[in-house]
Amino acid sequence: MIQRTLVLLKPDAVQRGLAGRIISRFEDAGLKIVGLKMVWIDEEFARKHYYDLAQRKGEAVLRRMLKYITNGPVIAIALEGVEAVAVVRKLVGGTEPKTAPPGTIRGDFAHLSFEYADSKDKAVPNLIHASGNVEEAEQELKLWFKPEELHSYKTVHEVHVF
Ligand code: ADP
Repeated sequence: MIQRTLVLLKPDAVQRGLAGRIISRFEDAGLKIVGLKMVWIDEEFARKHYYDLAQRKGEAVLRRMLKYITNGPVIAIALEGVEAVAVVRKLVGGTEPKTAPPGTIRGDFAHLSFEYADSKDKAVPNLIHASGNVEEAEQELKLWFKPEELHSYKTVHEVHVF
């Protein structure tokens, strides 16, 4: 039940100076940071990360996403915890900031809609990527982190995890 998952603070989160506040949300929930680095990815790497986006959302969304995710550095974070994949998705909120509930990171720190982003021919800036399921988390962690970049250690929260 202990899982690891990938979070990316996208270029808008980094450029808006929200990294610390967003990371605090995960730490506050007791999730453990087991890997963290800043990377400015190129289009080739972005295509590997979003390998199925065109299939799921169409070519236009992929094209816009490639531009968005490569326009500045991102902060890649590996988080660990009990059912971490679903817990992180819950904290992050739905894809569209306009409809992401208050209390979620996307709902609290952003507000744009799909419709507005589409009208500007841009991907919706929603601050974060978080792995969608356990299988995706395993694949994405392999893509973003070398084994030696992921660490095992104990946090005080583990007293409460038993
Ligand atoms: P999520 O990041 O919530 O898992 P997806 O994997 O479906 O969502 O989409 C990847 C990213 O592409 C989203 O986070 C968002 O930035 C962008 N995106 C998805 N759908 C749209 C859309 N219809 N219009 C604009 N941007 C979109």
